[in-house]
Amino acid sequence: MNLDELVDYMKERGLRMTPQRMEILKLLLSMSHPTAEQLFARMHEQFPFVSQATVYNTLKTLKELGIVEELERGQRTHRYGMASGSHCHFVCKVCEEIFDLDAEAPDWTRNLPAEQGGFRIDDCRMELTGVCPGCLEKAGVV
Ligand SMILES: [Zn+2]
Repeated sequence: MNLDELVDYMKERGLRMTPQRMEILKLLLSMSHPTAEQLFARMHEQFPFVSQATVYNTLKTLKELGIVEELERGQRTHRYGMASGSHCHFVCKVCEEIFDLDAEAPDWTRNLPAEQGGFRIDDCRMELTGVCPGCLEKAGVV
């Protein structure tokens, strides 16, 4: 979803579009999986009086609406990205950047849990790790 579609989606669900919410959406679309702290720092440039609680609450609301996904990186670090579309994550071991790659969940993820004991699947998260193109280039591998 682009910004206009996201705004419509939120309005349809009765959410008031405040300038702060608008800015958080813009930042999430333009930044690559920021932490809440990074988002707050950027928000603070635009809205000097914005509180950390506003940023956290907005992220929580967006998460509940399924617009934003929360990725756990370590015990206390969470990073946020847009949840739309089927994608998997590629985590670079060198720069720790998280990339979204377009991908459908493989067939076995749909069948295996049911076949091996009647598990119900609610969500599928795929994460690949390795080295990103930028870091490979810096290392002179490519
Ligand atoms: Zn990298």
